[in-house]
Amino acid sequence: MLRAVLSFANGIRIACMDAPLDPRKRCDRAIVTHAHSDHVRRHKRWVTTPGTALLCARRWNAADLEVHEFHAPWREGEATVTLLPAGHILGSAMVLVESRGLRFLYTGDFRLRPSATAEPCEPIDADVLITECTFGEPRYRFPERAAVVDDLCTFVEETLAQEAAPILIAYSLGKAQEVARIMGDLWYRVALHPRAWAMLEAYRDLGVAFTNCECYAMGPLARGVLIVPPGPGGMALAHRFRRRRTAFLSGWALAPPGRFGRYDAAFPISDHADWSELLEMVERVRPRRIYTLHGADTFAARLRARGYDAWPAGADAPSVPPAESAQLSLL
Ligand SMILES: [Zn+2]
Repeated sequence: MLRAVLSFANGIRIACMDAPLDPRKRCDRAIVTHAHSDHVRRHKRWVTTPGTALLCARRWNAADLEVHEFHAPWREGEATVTLLPAGHILGSAMVLVESRGLRFLYTGDFRLRPSATAEPCEPIDADVLITECTFGEPRYRFPERAAVVDDLCTFVEETLAQEAAPILIAYSLGKAQEVARIMGDLWYRVALHPRAWAMLEAYRDLGVAFTNCECYAMGPLARGVLIVPPGPGGMALAHRFRRRRTAFLSGWALAPPGRFGRYDAAFPISDHADWSELLEMVERVRPRRIYTLHGADTFAARLRARGYDAWPAGADAPSVPPAESAQLSLL
């Protein structure tokens, strides 16, 4: 049974290989898809891309790093493992595992639309797709990025016209650097919270160029924007500005009204796939079975309604797989 080969008890384990993928508990050796906290634990040895390795070293003090370039396969137990760009944040990877004639693709967090700072995502055929589904509801269809950036610039201009500080609330790794690059290239002066600035410097060291960006030093903003992370540290800095307007930058801007009422505005700028991209990933991978994680179980149900053999990771798969998955059941 496929169940015996795939386990979701602690991250993703594939029986034919040694290292788990994105385990939630500390391991001696683990494959880490990217440097966000919900995918990272303090492992003894970190197996990842050069970009994620550097980010994990700076952000999480990762020391024992086993680095594999994108597209460079290696042997892992009985399996062959290859990291492919996921398009989520700089260095983020999907993991392709090939074993016993089957191909497993774990997306980690991914995005198909172009990013200002991350490597473009590279979907590939696989028999089993293990996909994130953070925004796996039809309401999460993100508008074109250029239109959202236009709206954001209008918010910034209106705020500056009111002699208030435009404060952009963006996660300190990934989103903050992407927004800093977009706004800096539009000739806004961009100041960043020190935690976001530290990651911007890491991005720079990995070859991403930024213009008009600086670490926030106390005092007024000079006709520009301030980027702070959500949470107490970022908001403490924001609250130093008596006259301010805050904008939350996240795909959750499309969540039901009221969820982010504490901000003055919200813009759907995300580093995740939206509903359409999640469906496109399935179409491009052409899997015979799909497992979903990092989102609502309803996404798997919606895929089943479209004819896919899709199940939430961790839930019980059908005891008798459908005919088209017969080869999987032989494992
Ligand atoms: Zn992430």
